[in-house]
Amino acid sequence: MGKTLGRLRRLPEMECFFPKTIGEALSLLRKHNGRAKVFAGGTDLLPKMKRRELSPKYLIDLKGIPNLNFIKYEKQKGLRIGAGTPLNEILESSVIRRRYPILTETVSQMASTQIRNIGTIGGNLCNAVPSADTAPPLIALGSRLKLVGQRKERTVLAEDFFKGPGKTVLDPIELVAEVQIPPPRSNEFGAYLKHTLRAEMDLAVVGVAAYLALDSKKHICKDIKIVLGAVASIPMRPKKAEAVLRGKTLDDDLIEHAAKIASEEAKPIDDIRSSAEYRKEMVRVLTQRAIRQSLEKV
Ligand SMILES: Cc1cc2nc3c(=O)[nH]c(=O)nc-3n(C[C@H](O)[C@H](O)[C@H](O)COP(=O)(O)OP(=O)(O)OC[C@H]3O[C@@H](n4cnc5c(N)ncnc54)[C@H](O)[C@@H]3O)c2cc1C
Repeated sequence: MGKTLGRLRRLPEMECFFPKTIGEALSLLRKHNGRAKVFAGGTDLLPKMKRRELSPKYLIDLKGIPNLNFIKYEKQKGLRIGAGTPLNEILESSVIRRRYPILTETVSQMASTQIRNIGTIGGNLCNAVPSADTAPPLIALGSRLKLVGQRKERTVLAEDFFKGPGKTVLDPIELVAEVQIPPPRSNEFGAYLKHTLRAEMDLAVVGVAAYLALDSKKHICKDIKIVLGAVASIPMRPKKAEAVLRGKTLDDDLIEHAAKIASEEAKPIDDIRSSAEYRKEMVRVLTQRAIRQSLEKV
């Protein structure tokens, strides 16, 4: 079953497996525990291997597993997206565009067509960088992730999945199988905004998702989730800012006040792409805009 891929440019010799089922992939992970890595598109993993940040002896390719690549919507249950679904299939899905436009908006701001053709939603989440674009909207939508191990299955809130840069709650012999998003309710609106240094093909310096539910008269904010990316070790919710908005009419003064609180709650670091101070200011600006853009969709 294994094929030697020793000739891959600049990569050391390794063995690659091509399972056809989730069970087969889990058996391989178990057999080569600690020395194997799974990959889907490889757009995060292979650059890390080329930089020698990781040198797994075995690679397990998830692309040939049909049960990881699907988009299914049911009115009562909501949306399920297989972890191995390429980002471009999410971008092109008409049901996602209609029912969860915040996701379409998010993916349209990611990478390039070529990368989106192979990069997957599961890979984006499992790579667990603080700037991963799909994390803020999925958390804002109240998504859960289905994790499968050899003997058990469990679901965790996307919000509880991340433990630090590159770290998640996944056990070593466990895979993310699917993303589950609750059915949209009426009067819910959202937006995801991303600030990058370059116009295209760049990771977020700051990403902000806002998702709000209005009352039946569309005046009062019944509920809101704001999720900030790239300003803490994991995607974070500025809960004090959310609390300021809940139960109120969202006028300009209140939105500005909440955005300022969100910027105070953010915990960014200085790095090569931005200073912490600039990131905080961008949280303030993007939080206002994300809430206003959500309201423009009412
Ligand atoms: C040029 C370029 C531009 C990019 N632009 C963006 C961008 O704008 N926004 C952004 O967020 N990202 C961006 N990325 C990063 C990357 O493309 C995405 O994160 C992509 O979604 C990763 O998916 P993948 O399938 O390629 O992951 P892979 O590289 O295959 O895997 C990533 C990690 O997840 C693990 N993994 C994958 N699938 C599973 C699974 N089902 N269960 C358990 N573990 C799993 C792998 O072991 C690995 O550790 C960019 C990358 C490149 C090269």
